[in-house]
Amino acid sequence: MASVILLPDQKFQVGKIVCVGINYSDHMKEMGNEKPEKPVLFLKPSTSILNEGATIKLPNYSKEVHHEIELALLVGTTARNIRRSEWKTYISGAGIAIDLTLRDIQREARKKGLPWSVCKGFDGACPISSFKPLNTISDIQKLALTLQVNKQIRQQGNTSEMIFAVDHLIEYISGIFTLERGDVIITGTPAGVSPVTSGDHITAEISGIGSMSFTVVSD
Ligand code: MG
Repeated sequence: MASVILLPDQKFQVGKIVCVGINYSDHMKEMGNEKPEKPVLFLKPSTSILNEGATIKLPNYSKEVHHEIELALLVGTTARNIRRSEWKTYISGAGIAIDLTLRDIQREARKKGLPWSVCKGFDGACPISSFKPLNTISDIQKLALTLQVNKQIRQQGNTSEMIFAVDHLIEYISGIFTLERGDVIITGTPAGVSPVTSGDHITAEISGIGSMSFTVVSD
């Protein structure tokens, strides 16, 4: 069973991973998308979780695997229909995730109006850090995100640039899916998504949370 750690030593079994697409304007533009009227949601299975220390394995059925650094939130208390003002009651921690995306397969799926389960949900598609307790984060909407590949900066952004802020996301998501203890929410990526190849070394960092590193190999 996939699990994540809430620091210092609390283990959570991961149920579902709720993902938000197109939540930063600069990434929306680079993808040629229109501004969404409400949050765009998709799911990754728990088997996509890849904890720190593991290796990213590039699936052999894709030729274009992209990194997307994202702020991750850990659900601590099961609930539905959470009011925007009360989101902090239900979220226990904040962490770093990479929403690995098979861009070639996604492009094909978009063209044909097909689902994203393969391009976003394959084994290991969600490298993730341990989570810091939410009460140690001073302002969730003022965190700097940086992703480097082989020490070159590829993505830089700030959670202040989100189209839908965290409180809005929790209210919207919990009105559709019951959020269960151990579920993870990933909140969208800033611009700069780009391909990774075998041998690459990825470091993802969010201010106030920390950093994580992964090595990439071919499967
Ligand atoms: Mg994403």
